[in-house]
Amino acid sequence: MFHKFKVTLIISFLGLITLFLGYKAISYSTYSVVPEISTKGLTSGDYYSGVVQSKIVSNNGYKIDHIDVYLDGKLLDLDGTKKINKKSLNFPLTIDTTTLLDGKHNLTVDIVDASKHQNKNQMNLDFYVDNTDLNATFIDQSYKVLQGRTIHAKIKANKKLADAKIQFLEKNYEFYPESEYSTVYESFIPVDCDLNAGEYQLNAKVKDFVGHDMNLSGRVDIQEYNFPKQKGFVVEKGKLEEEKEVSMSNRILEDAIEKWLADSPNKKLWTGRFEVPVDIKKITTPFGEIRTTSEKGHYMHKAVDILNNPRSVIWASQEGKVVIKDRFLLTGNTIVLDHGIGVFTIYCHLEDFADIEVGDLVKKGNKIGRMGMTGYANGYHLHWELRVNNVAVDPFQWTQKNF
Ligand SMILES: [Zn+2]
Repeated sequence: MFHKFKVTLIISFLGLITLFLGYKAISYSTYSVVPEISTKGLTSGDYYSGVVQSKIVSNNGYKIDHIDVYLDGKLLDLDGTKKINKKSLNFPLTIDTTTLLDGKHNLTVDIVDASKHQNKNQMNLDFYVDNTDLNATFIDQSYKVLQGRTIHAKIKANKKLADAKIQFLEKNYEFYPESEYSTVYESFIPVDCDLNAGEYQLNAKVKDFVGHDMNLSGRVDIQEYNFPKQKGFVVEKGKLEEEKEVSMSNRILEDAIEKWLADSPNKKLWTGRFEVPVDIKKITTPFGEIRTTSEKGHYMHKAVDILNNPRSVIWASQEGKVVIKDRFLLTGNTIVLDHGIGVFTIYCHLEDFADIEVGDLVKKGNKIGRMGMTGYANGYHLHWELRVNNVAVDPFQWTQKNF
């Protein structure tokens, strides 16, 4: 009885071994999944400097036979790449980038398993080498700007930058390349009309793609501008009451502008100067005029009012995207155009709108509406505003200078 049991056990055991070997044989001759392969510490499209320690990694269903590693098409003579005979691979690869030229390089790895089919896979990645020290300077070390105008700050770098910002009064502004392949970076910084005249610091921080960073410092002299004072601005009694029936609160407009600012394209949609958006018969309110009214109290008119015949054509000052087309209590029928990198123009009190919709791209000179007196207005005129990062600045600086 006991003996019989032993024999059964041995037979079962032999059976299991046969099954196992059989399975191995079948899997050797039928395995057809290509080996997977990836890298650690080296990523496609990234920038590197100095000595890079990376790893070639694979976790496979079948044993790996060998790998071939090529740098810029040349097979590297590395120990441990042949007869690997393991299902998982964690192969250390050291690349001394100081022996390579700055620029784009390619790493190719061929991996072959040890099955009958010799299943193969290839990994191919491009990376960039940058061993040049970062260097950047302000093109002009100091700027002179009037209150209510825009600072056009520029820096020049010796290479493409991954990140560049400029700080003015606790606020950071982005630098943008002048054009796609330029290493000159520019930033538009608004100076509020209410800011006190005096010397201010401009602190820039730039970073390249391998993580080197640099601080630059410049300064700006904000000069006093004698904003005119207006007398006798009166809007007909009851006009605001009438407007309330047909329009939305201007808080809604301001909230919408804030929201659109966050979505502003990170490149200029414009080229050249901005155009005055209507023929000028008369400037009735210059930029920054100080006004006192019973409804709004004491405030600065941070826009220009342009007078012409009722229903004169108003056109887009520059190429841009229509982001707001609506009627508001104070500004009446209002169009807001986003020109990219946080520069907006606003057109108010329109009689009506041209055939344009929110989301449309308009070209400089395209009709956007007609001159009206909707909203808080005492006569037909265009209230034209230009905002940089939501701070209203003198739009005429933008029509006179190439920004
Ligand atoms: Zn106005």
